Parts: sequence; structure tokens; C-alpha cells
Amino acid sequence: MAIIMLARATTRLHLIWGVFCMTVILWGLGAYQIGISQDPARALFWWKFAYIGVIFIPIMFTHFVYIFLERKKRTFIWSLYLLGLIYLIGNLFTDKFINSVHLMFDSIYFLTPTPFYNSYFAFFIILVVYSHILLWKNYKIASGLRKQQIQYFFIGSFLGFFGGSFSFLPEYYINIYPFMNLTVSFYPIIMGFAILRYRLMNISIIMAQLLVASLWVFISVRALISEFGSHEQLLNIALLLITVFVGILLNNSVIKEIKSREEIERLAKDLEGANEELKQLDAAKSEFISLAGHQLRAPMTAIKGYTSMLIEGSFGKVAERSKEALERIFTSTEILTKLTSELLDLSRIETGKMRYDFNSVNIAEIIQNILRELEMNARNKGIALKFKNETKNNIRVFGDMDKIHEVIINLIDNAIKYSGEGKEVVIWLKNPANGTGRALVAVEDFGIGINPEEIGRLFGKFERTEESKKIRPDGMGLGLYFAKKIVEDHKGRIWAESKCQGKGSTFFVELPVA
Ligand code: ADP
Repeated sequence: MAIIMLARATTRLHLIWGVFCMTVILWGLGAYQIGISQDPARALFWWKFAYIGVIFIPIMFTHFVYIFLERKKRTFIWSLYLLGLIYLIGNLFTDKFINSVHLMFDSIYFLTPTPFYNSYFAFFIILVVYSHILLWKNYKIASGLRKQQIQYFFIGSFLGFFGGSFSFLPEYYINIYPFMNLTVSFYPIIMGFAILRYRLMNISIIMAQLLVASLWVFISVRALISEFGSHEQLLNIALLLITVFVGILLNNSVIKEIKSREEIERLAKDLEGANEELKQLDAAKSEFISLAGHQLRAPMTAIKGYTSMLIEGSFGKVAERSKEALERIFTSTEILTKLTSELLDLSRIETGKMRYDFNSVNIAEIIQNILRELEMNARNKGIALKFKNETKNNIRVFGDMDKIHEVIINLIDNAIKYSGEGKEVVIWLKNPANGTGRALVAVEDFGIGINPEEIGRLFGKFERTEESKKIRPDGMGLGLYFAKKIVEDHKGRIWAESKCQGKGSTFFVELPVA
């Protein structure tokens, strides 16, 4: 919210700055014409002209300072503009504001103040002093970049107004030549420096506005100095109208572009925040899963233990029908245990808490243990498990025994799970291929197979083939994800091959030899 408001304030700042520059330009143009006026009537005309801009200089400046300092007092600013409008009407349509001039320094016609003009003069001084006091106060409490911005702004505007106000002296018959006007030219230099160095405002907007403003002034001057009613003057006025139109379009499009850039920056910041929040939520989720997983383990072990004791008849003879039910409880609890440990592993991986205990391990031994564990399972499905060891029995790999066990048991378990009754599963253990230094374990089955397009993504989190979902809705698609993570942490390689669906598949694991 604060950023949006700031972005809005910046755009308004540019707008006010642009118009403010225009008022100063009007003054400059008028002052030049006054300087070269030879007769009082002409000088009077240019005084009135210059004051179209001058009237609004202190008002726009105060407005600018208000936005720059992020002060909010709209009614105050609007009443200033209203007052400015009254002076403008007085200047354009009456002779109560400026009605005569007098010669000073034998060369320049200065306006002669009227009471109405005097009130404007007081208004000018009060606003300028007030704005500078505001700037000064803010300067004292600001820090860092902001302090430097205010400092430059203050020095620039102070010099501008201080020098500029010397123009008032000869109006009141004070014989001091307004040479201090020169400091006004420091104003744009200092402001320009501040803009560039301290990013006071957006430089591209300033450039566009300066370009447009100078074009307007150039063409206005041409229109004014060309012969009244001539073709040239008409052409210049037409040109002026076109450049005013194009200039406004250009300015708007630059402002729009800046706005959208600021909007993108804001969105990126928001996104960053949201991302951070998501990360925290994700961490909290992993933490929760890990906690819940640990809590579930103990009761499940108890259920499994007591059920198996019941089945074995440790608490007395159990009827055949009850035994069947108990066996179902037992297998379901086993699935539940597997799911829980998978979730635990997942949270370990995601929180980076996966720990390994690296040793030289006998891979053939691990496979044999697994075969013993899965024997019952396979037999129930009428599946023959065959181990073809092409290495000498004592080939050793470098790794964490339990984790390697987890990887291979998952592959063989899958091979059984995704094969029809009566098929066979062959486990190969091969010597390292030339130059790889890695022993190869391959688990080959003749089951449902995998579509070649699907093979790559199966090692991702929660990925499963459509076919497998139909026949085994209980899988989570996490086993291969862990296997990949573990194998990669062992500097090994895991991949799968399948001719096509229905033709079986083979999973390969390469592990570095110890
Ligand atoms: P799960 O078996 O619990 O779904 P895995 O990560 O172990 O999870 O396997 C991911 C998916 O890969 C399985 O759901 C299945 O679609 C496919 N898959 C794994 N092994 C085999 C296999 N031997 N034959 C056919 N598909 C398999």
C-alpha cells in the first residue's frame, strides 16, 4: 500500500514539477521581453504576460514541497490555487493587479505595485519562507539518501528564490540591479544534479518534459516574433498546437511506462514476500509431517506386533474367519507403516535432514537380505524372484547400507507390485562397466511396463503412470523420488528402460565401488 502511494506521489511530483517548470519558463520569456521593451505599453503587456506564470510559482512550489515531503493537506493546497486563480483573473481581466510601469536604471521598465499586487507580494514571500521552513525541518529529521535529496532540493530552491526575489526590489524603487537573478540559473543545475545523483525524480520523465517544454517555448517565441497575421505566424501557431498535442501524448506515454515499471517492481516485491511466506509454510508443513510421522510409528508397531501375535495364536486359538480379518489388518498396517516412513523421508529430504552413514558395504548381501524379506510377498503372487550375480560375491560399494537397502527393496517391491501373477522378476548384479567404476544392479520384470514418454518423470515427487494407478491405487509415487535422491547423494545413477506398456520394465542403479 505504502509503495502504491509512493508511486502515485512520484507521478504527481513529476506532473507538478513539469508545470512548475512551465511557469518559470513563462516568467523567463516575459522577463526577456521586458528587458528589451523600449516603450512602457509594450513592457506593461509583457509584465502581465510574465505574471501568468509568476503568480503560480510559489503555489506550485509549495504544492511540490508538500508532495515531496508526503504531507497531506489537500484543502490547503486547493485554497492556494483558488487564490492564485483570483490573482490571475485580476491580472488578465482588470487593471487592479498591474496597471503601470516605471523606468529604473535608465533602461528597464519595472511594474509599479498596486495594493492588490502588494497582497500578492506578501503571499509570495510567506509561501516561499513557509515551504523552506518545512524543507528545513524535514531535513533535520531525515537520514541517508533522503537527507541528501532534501539538502540538494533545499539549496537549489533557496538559491532560486533568493536570487529571483531580487527582481522585486526595483518594483519598489529600490536601486539594486537584479543581478542576483543569475542564481536562478543555478537552480536547474543543482536540481538536475540532485535528480541524477540522488534519483530525486525519474530522469526519463524529466528529459521528456524538458524536450517538450523547450519545443513549446521555441515555437511560441517564433509565433510571437513573426509578423502579426502573417502566414508564418499561422504556420507557427499550427505547429505549436501540434507540438502541444504530441508533447502531451509523449509525456503521458512516458509517465504510463514509468507507472507500469513501478507496478512491475511492486508486484515483484509482493511476489518475493509471498514466496518467502510459502517457504515458511512449506517448512512448517515438513515439520508437521515429521512430527506426526514419528507419533504414528509407535502405535502402528504395537498394532502390527499384537496382530501377528493374535494370528500366531499367542493369546489362544483364533477362528479361521477371524484369522483372515486379522491378516487383512496386518497387511493394511504394513502399508500404513510404509506410507508413514515415506512421508518421514520426504520431510527429511525437504528439510535437508537426510543423514548418511557411508561405509564399504557388500551389495550382494543386501540383495540377498531383501530377497528373503520379499519372498512371502512374491510367493503370494506366484512370482519367482531370481538373483543373477555376475560378480564375485564380495563386491563392495561405498555407501549407506540402510539407504541402499531402501532403494533396492523399493525397486524389487515395485517389480512385484506391477507384475501379473505367475511372472518372474530377475535381479542382476554386474561388475562395473569399463571405466565407470560403478557396480550395476538391474531389476527386470515382465509386468505392466511403462510408456517410454512417461519414464523420465517417474523419478519426480508423487509421479505415477495412469496404468499403475488403476491396478494399485495405494501407491504414493514417492519411492522412486527417494531412490533418485539417495542414489545421487551416493554419486551414482538410476534410470529405467521399458520397451512399451505391457512388455515389462527394467530399473538400473549404478553405485561407486568401494
Ligand atoms: P509407488 O510405487 O508407491 O506408486 P514409486 O515412486 O515407487 O511409487 O513408483 C512411481 C511410479 O512408477 C509407480 O506408481 C508406477 O507408475 C511406476 N513404476 C515403478 N516401478 C514400476 C515397474 N516395475 N513397472 C511399471 N511401473 C512402475
